[in-house]
Amino acid sequence: MTDLPAQRGGKPVVRFAPSPTGFLHIGGARTALFNWLYARHHGGTFLLRIEDTDRERNNEAAVAAILDGLRWLELGWDGEPVSQFSRAGRHREVANEMLKRGRAYRCWSQPAEIEAAREAAKAAGRAQIFESPWRDRDPAAAPAGVEPAIRLKSPRTGETTVRDNVQGTVTFPNKDLDDLIILRSDGNPTYNLAVVVDDHDMAVTHVIRGVDHLTNAARQTQIYEAMGWPVPEFAHVPLIHGPDGAKLSKRHGALGIEAYRAMGYLPAALRNYLVRLGWAHGNDEIIPTERLVEWFGLDGIGKSPARFDYAKLTDLNGHYIRNATDAELVRRIEDILPEIEGGPALAAKLAAGGRARLEAAMGGLKDRAKTLLEIVDGAHYLFAARPLELDDKARALLDAPARATIAALLPRLLAVADWQAAEIEAAVRAHADATGLKLGKVAQPLRAALTGRAVSPPVFDVMAQIGREDALARLEDQAA
Ligand code: GLU
Repeated sequence: MTDLPAQRGGKPVVRFAPSPTGFLHIGGARTALFNWLYARHHGGTFLLRIEDTDRERNNEAAVAAILDGLRWLELGWDGEPVSQFSRAGRHREVANEMLKRGRAYRCWSQPAEIEAAREAAKAAGRAQIFESPWRDRDPAAAPAGVEPAIRLKSPRTGETTVRDNVQGTVTFPNKDLDDLIILRSDGNPTYNLAVVVDDHDMAVTHVIRGVDHLTNAARQTQIYEAMGWPVPEFAHVPLIHGPDGAKLSKRHGALGIEAYRAMGYLPAALRNYLVRLGWAHGNDEIIPTERLVEWFGLDGIGKSPARFDYAKLTDLNGHYIRNATDAELVRRIEDILPEIEGGPALAAKLAAGGRARLEAAMGGLKDRAKTLLEIVDGAHYLFAARPLELDDKARALLDAPARATIAALLPRLLAVADWQAAEIEAAVRAHADATGLKLGKVAQPLRAALTGRAVSPPVFDVMAQIGREDALARLEDQAA
């Protein structure tokens, strides 16, 4: 994490500013996506700032997970990520500058005193904001040996207005906003100060983030004004709710982005789904990323919270899977195999020559799957060991007459010269014609014997994909 970028003539500068206290969750990913789209739409700059000031709750693993999540979602940022913690010196400098300008003051009030004042206000039914006696008191009266905090001298009357691109004009009576601590007595900057100083120094023009930061926007506005700095444009985006309408939480399966990856969602599908959680372009549902970049704007962001719906995400993912190239799907499956059940064994098979077999079968597999995991499940027959394990439906299909049909068909299959789907189909059809059986009566037992299941890609394709030797051996295993 290094130097700050210079001013960028006329183009918007946005940032994603996650606190690395956990993984990149769905709400954070959507905030990142909105910022990324805004920057790309306008040819602007998308910066990344890691808000790592809370040293106790921060950890390297969380930072790595956030960066990995953004990379996987293909939301590339410009320049190096900025560490907020590394800028603490600059935050202190600004707090001191505010002191000098008379826009902040030193406060020696101790936690017990603040708490007592709050309790008294509560008992008297007054607003519970703390009014520090040091706002007007002579610092010469300061107690010895006590380090002061620095508080913003915020306006006591009037109101602070946030003009928000999503929420509209929101006013906060100043009497409800207490004199915010900007620098703690241990010399550490507080959150709102750090955000304002960083956004200013990074030349951020548009702050796009969750609506849970709306009150912070008012406090931050007061800091901008105290410093005489221009206030950026704000866009506070509604939160994401669970299917029951309550704020999305772990209870709803609000997982880190890496969990969606491991469930077999494609980044393009997730981007498309996430953008629709809060932003709309008419009734369009399927919007490829190029179109999103072309169409995205703050005016398309609605005010009401969106509901997270797995079924919709999964359907959308199915669409992206059907439209992905076979090679991309193989690559993405290989990427997640280390993380999924039975994945490492399949990875070994793919590495030992199975990759081509999987790619050749992908056309039939992707039509039947909505996630990569469903493709993996559907592809089980490609690598299944003999004798195949039969599921209940396949076992039911392979009754005595069905096994006899397979036995009777085998000589014709043995005679197929060119082991291609069309040739195999011709042989099976000839057998059906000769015996008066319907094609399905022959094909279903074949499917059960070849795949161990009652559902699979077209059975002639299956035989071609697994090859002559394997196909005939599997059929022999079940013939009677
Ligand atoms: N670090 C804050 C968060 O994770 C975001 C602050 C901001 O975007 O201004 O919610």
